[in-house]
Amino acid sequence: MSVKLEAKNIHKSYKKNEVLKGINLSVEDGEVVVLIGPSGSGKSTFLRCLNDLEHPTKGEVYLEGQKVETKGKSIDKFRAKVGMVFQHFNLFNHLNVVDNIQFAPLELGLMTKEEADARVDDLLEQVGLLDKKYARPKLLSGGQKQRVAIARSLAMRPEVILFDEPTSALDPEMVGDVLEVMQTLAKEGMTMVIVTHEMGFARQVADRVVFMADGYIIEEGTPEQIFDHPKEERTRTFLSKILK
Ligand code: ADP
Ligand code: MG
Repeated sequence: MSVKLEAKNIHKSYKKNEVLKGINLSVEDGEVVVLIGPSGSGKSTFLRCLNDLEHPTKGEVYLEGQKVETKGKSIDKFRAKVGMVFQHFNLFNHLNVVDNIQFAPLELGLMTKEEADARVDDLLEQVGLLDKKYARPKLLSGGQKQRVAIARSLAMRPEVILFDEPTSALDPEMVGDVLEVMQTLAKEGMTMVIVTHEMGFARQVADRVVFMADGYIIEEGTPEQIFDHPKEERTRTFLSKILK
């Protein structure tokens, strides 16, 4: 195994509020890391630091051993390699599904229109939405929108995908389809960091579960270690609230 993505001593402050207080996390190639923790503990901020949507106040991120350079054009290349899927999809509502998927790779010159066209049906098939190719987002359900967002991320041929509560905004009956797509990606060896409250899913898919609270990693381990034998009181308290 080799390290794919590494965060070293990440600190992030907003004015005087220190939200991340020295996070170290190393994600192996093909590993699925699930990040859990109370609201406000810094999970989203940490994910955003991992692909430089937020710039850490201190600390560095390494992709395949290379320190992430945040100046100039190289940051676009880096972001293409570290995809992100958000709770609220963030699709372009004025573009149909194909154009949403192709927008970034074409804009960044990562592929020609011919290459993008040749690939789009495969991506749509992967997320089960071939029949929605020309639909506008407003005609899609939340679960379908999220699957388009995953296809859009995959279109960049990322090395890692970060998911920030991808099912939290969905009606319960839509959750399963999205988790199924993510589970397939995991099986195919995609390196993923996932913030989620879906503990059943975490147990099935995670190689490692990381519990964050108050800007620190409190505890990490296999799903069995964290869910069945948590060592830290704060982990136990959190789990007892969420696993009712
Ligand atoms: P989580 O995702 O675990 O719920 P967040 O990373 O969203 O936590 O937030 C952690 C803390 O950082 C919260 O107190 C939040 O108010 C603060 N925070 C997050 N983003 C910003 C921002 N852009 N400006 C100021 N404070 C922020
Ligand atoms: Mg969050």
